[in-house]
Amino acid sequence: MDASSSQIQVRVLPEEVDKPNVLRLAVARQLRKERRPPLDPNVELHVLRQSWDARKRPVRLQLLIGWNDGASKAQVQPWVWPKVSANAKEVVVVGAGPAGLYAALECLRHGVRPLVLERGKDVRARRRDLAKLNREHVVNPESNYCFGEGGAGTYSDGKLYTRSKKRGDIREALEWMVVHGADPHILVEAHPHIGTNRLPGVVTAMRETIKAAGGEVRFNHKVVDVLEENGTCTGVEVVCLENDTRSVVRGEAVILATGHSARDMFELIHDKGLAIEAKPFAMGVRVEHSQNWVNEVQYHGEIVEDRLPPASYSLVCQVEGRGVHSFCMCPGGVMAPCATSPGEIVTNGWSPSKRNNPHANSGMVVQVGPSDWEPLGFHGPLGGLRFQESVEQACWKVAGQTQAAPGQRLVDFVAGMPSIDLPATSYLPGVVASRLDQVLPDVVVKCLQQGFKTFDQKMKGFLHPEAVVVGPESRTSSPVRIPRDPDTLQHPGLRKFVPTGEGGGYAGGILSAAMDGRKAAMAVLDLLDSV
Ligand SMILES: Cc1cc2nc3c(=O)[nH]c(=O)nc-3n(C[C@H](O)[C@H](O)[C@H](O)COP(=O)(O)OP(=O)(O)OC[C@H]3O[C@@H](n4cnc5c(N)ncnc54)[C@H](O)[C@@H]3O)c2cc1C
Repeated sequence: MDASSSQIQVRVLPEEVDKPNVLRLAVARQLRKERRPPLDPNVELHVLRQSWDARKRPVRLQLLIGWNDGASKAQVQPWVWPKVSANAKEVVVVGAGPAGLYAALECLRHGVRPLVLERGKDVRARRRDLAKLNREHVVNPESNYCFGEGGAGTYSDGKLYTRSKKRGDIREALEWMVVHGADPHILVEAHPHIGTNRLPGVVTAMRETIKAAGGEVRFNHKVVDVLEENGTCTGVEVVCLENDTRSVVRGEAVILATGHSARDMFELIHDKGLAIEAKPFAMGVRVEHSQNWVNEVQYHGEIVEDRLPPASYSLVCQVEGRGVHSFCMCPGGVMAPCATSPGEIVTNGWSPSKRNNPHANSGMVVQVGPSDWEPLGFHGPLGGLRFQESVEQACWKVAGQTQAAPGQRLVDFVAGMPSIDLPATSYLPGVVASRLDQVLPDVVVKCLQQGFKTFDQKMKGFLHPEAVVVGPESRTSSPVRIPRDPDTLQHPGLRKFVPTGEGGGYAGGILSAAMDGRKAAMAVLDLLDSV
């Protein structure tokens, strides 16, 4: 009998989900409706999946409920990372973001010792640099919202969605988070998120697992060169940022998991003559509304209180053949300064686990590619990167050369008018009223202006007089791709050099980066076996 014969979909009110008797009744009713045999009164029911159905009032929860064989996957597998032997083979992992951490954990499961080199600091020390960035406008180029333990995802909303279709891989990646302290509810929720306050704990626990199993994680260690002998990567050259000493770290292979903001790494690869390609990416702004307004629209005026989670939205339309879409929406969130160098502005967003801040922000972005940046004089594999950089620097200049970001009332941005004043926003370094509509590239502005009008029809009142756009949202994904062989995942020009995660262009978020990190490690394990 297939497992789905012991599963059923039901819809209940949010307050009913914790009442076993109500659930049992809902299941019995639905079984009758579908003319299926009644439930044995002794079987235990498990909620396998939950999503919100807010199409009309009252908002309901859609649940997938399973029992017997249909609930066999409800438990978390007993994951263990046994200690590797003293003479285990060693692999160098560059970067301790989701891709690097999952690559390291996967190596350990197969008896290979990972040595993780991370330019940034551990999560605790990193927090102090974020405070300096928010309060004093000081950007530490080695420790910021993108660089440091856990990578760019550590101080995020921790949304865990991916477009990957590999359900097994997704489930396992989520289970690894749960065994490292994430709420098990992420296994059930259709759109799970962890929250900025919880992510550092999960990341720290992963580091502890790596260390306990015999791996090593070195913070403040920035990789500055990739070593090569006869077409094979043999290790890296690294600078310890605490004492400015250089050393060589050798390994059987190098997994490169440096993320989309490590511009120096892209430059290094290019300068070494290794293939690297420009890649389209999305660019735009963050838009911020009040969370109450988003709740009101999405829940049709239903009162949120504790019954319903702060509402989110997802918007997409086509303008002149280009996609304009919302990106990384943070209900109850805060807009964050995500520059990785002084002299630039980059925005993104985060939310705590309860998503209980008064604002809702979201990236609103337009796809851009070489045909947009080449006419502006940005050519070659790093053309997109230079274009991205130029927009970030222009935003820094127009807003007064601090980490205060340029902003405009949404309605003024759409009308191409200056804003006389701005409402309060969540962006801690402050927002300066500026002509974002004149600073961002024309194509981005035109598509956004039209897109916002369309979104106002889809979500009535989107063009709210108190809504603000802040920019730029420019690090949506990598502006380059580091090619790799489709079978072995090695760089075509350098054996045993395996790019992974978002930096290489193989992921677009925490979960997909984590899964790609595992995949990279498995490819490396195959390479080691074949030696
Ligand atoms: C504020 C914010 C909010 C976000 N919110 C979400 C969200 O809710 N959900 C989601 O799915 N995604 C979110 N993202 C995106 C997500 O964080 C990334 O997609 C993901 O972290 C990519 O993982 P990665 O491991 O490929 O790279 P990264 O996470 O970027 O990690 C790369 C690591 O490599 C290190 N490194 C770089 N260069 C070197 C070097 N030369 N030597 C040594 N180490 C180096 C960096 O310091 C960094 O720690 C957010 C990003 C930001 C900035």
